[in-house]
Amino acid sequence: MKKFSDFPLIREKNDLLRFKLFRSTFGNVKFLNILRASLLLLTLYAIFFGLIHPDRKENIFTTALFWGLFWPFFMVITLPTVGNFFCMVCPHGFLSRKLSKSGLKLNLPKGLKNPYIGLGLNIILYWFILYTFPGVLREPLVTALFFLFFTLLAIAVSLIFTNGAYCRYFCPIGRVAPAFARVGFTWLSTYNRELCDSKCDKPDCAFACPYKLSPLKFDKNNSMDTCTLCMECANSCEGVKLSVRRWSHSLLKKIPKPQSWEVWVYIILLAVITITMRFHHGLGHSPVKESLPWVIIGKWLQETTGIGKPFDFVGLTALIMALLITLSLVLGGFYLTSRIINRSYRDVFLNLGYALAPLMIVGSLSHVCHFFFTHYYHEVINGFAQAFFLDFRVEPLADRKDTWLRIFNIFPFIAAFWSGYIMWRRLGFFEVKGFKKIVSYILSSGIIIFYLGLTVFILYVRYFGHTGHHH
Ligand code: SF4
Ligand code: SF4
Repeated sequence: MKKFSDFPLIREKNDLLRFKLFRSTFGNVKFLNILRASLLLLTLYAIFFGLIHPDRKENIFTTALFWGLFWPFFMVITLPTVGNFFCMVCPHGFLSRKLSKSGLKLNLPKGLKNPYIGLGLNIILYWFILYTFPGVLREPLVTALFFLFFTLLAIAVSLIFTNGAYCRYFCPIGRVAPAFARVGFTWLSTYNRELCDSKCDKPDCAFACPYKLSPLKFDKNNSMDTCTLCMECANSCEGVKLSVRRWSHSLLKKIPKPQSWEVWVYIILLAVITITMRFHHGLGHSPVKESLPWVIIGKWLQETTGIGKPFDFVGLTALIMALLITLSLVLGGFYLTSRIINRSYRDVFLNLGYALAPLMIVGSLSHVCHFFFTHYYHEVINGFAQAFFLDFRVEPLADRKDTWLRIFNIFPFIAAFWSGYIMWRRLGFFEVKGFKKIVSYILSSGIIIFYLGLTVFILYVRYFGHTGHHH
C-alpha cells in the first residue's frame, strides 16, 4: 500500500509545519495534549475556587480566568489573526475526545444533529443572561456554575455519543469559532491533492480526524467545516499542512457548498453581540441615554409590569431592537439585491452573507484591547496570585480616562471596511456591473453602513457630547 510518506515531501514556504519548532509544539498532538490537560486542570480549579469562594470580594480569580483570559485572548484576539486557536487548545475538546474513546459510542440521533443547538446555548445561557440580568455573570459562583454545566455536558455527551458530537453540536463555541476563524490567516489542508488522490490508497488524515472531516477536501470546498485544529490529522500523515495565507482569503473566493449555519452565525452574533453592546453599553451611559428608544420602552415595561431588579427590561429591549434592526437590514437588503440582480434570494444570502464575518470579530478587538489595559491585565495577574497564594499585586496598566486608549477605536472602522471590501468582491461573483452593482452593493451593505454610522455617533456623543461629561 502506497502512502503519502513514500513520496518525499518538500514543504511549501508558507507552511508553518515547515518549522521544526512549530512541528514539535503546535503541530504535535502530544505537546498539545499536555497544554490542554494543564488548561483542563486550571479550568477545574477555577470552578472549584468559584464554588468555595462564591463572593466577588474574596474571589477575583474565577471570573478573571474565564472572562478576562480565555474569552478575550483565545477568542477575540486569535480568531481574526491566527484562526481557531481556541479549539486547538480547548480543555473541553480534549476531554471530549479522550472520553468518547471509552464511551458507548452511540450515533447521535438525527434530531440532535442540529448546528443551532450550540449557538442557541451560547445566546441563551450567555448573552441573554448578560443583558437581562446585568452583573450576574460577573459573580464567581455563577461563572463557576456556568463552566461546570458545560464541563458536565461535555462529559455526558462524550460518554454516550461518538467522537465529535460535543464539539460539533453542543459546544457553544463549536460552530462559532470555526466560522469566525475564516477571518484569520491560517488554513489547514493537504499537499498536492493529485498525489493524495492517485497515490494515497488510504487517506490517513481523514481516518484520524475525530470529527470525521476530510482535510483532503478543505481546499476544494474552500471550507474547513468544523475543524478544531486538533492536529490529529497532521500527526497521522505528513501530507497535512497548516499554511499562512492572505488574511480572510477563503472569504474572497467562491465557497462551493456554502452553509447557511455559517451565515446565520455571522448575522445572529452581529446582532446579539455587536449591535446590542453598542446600543446598551456604548450609549447606555452617554448624555443621550434618557432619549434612547430602548431605555424609554424598557423603563415603561418595567413600570407597567412591576418586574424590576435583578431583571432588566432595558437590556432586553435593546437586544430585541438590535435583532430586529439587524435582521431587517441584512435580510431585507439581500432580498432587494436578489430582485435587482435577478438571482434567487437563497443564492444572494449564501454568497454575500459571508462578507459579514469580519464585522463582529474585528470590531470586538477595540473593546478587548481597551479592557486589557484597564481591567484584564491586573485582574488576571492578581487573580492568579490570589488562587495560587502568591504575595503580590499589580496595578491597572491604564485608567479608562487615558486619552491614548482612544487609538483602539480604530477597530470598528477596520471591521467595516474589511467587511465592505469582501462584500464588493463577493458581489462580483454575480457578474453585475455599473449602476446595478453600486445599488445592490449599497443595499446588501445596509448593516455595515448602519454599524459605521452607529460607531461614529457613539464616538461623537462620547467625546463631544453636549453636556461635556465623559463617562
Ligand atoms: S468545539 Fe468547543 S469543546 Fe470542541 S474544541 Fe472547540 S471550544 Fe472546545
Ligand atoms: S481536520 Fe480533523 S483531525 Fe485535522 S485538525 Fe481538523 S479536526 Fe483535527
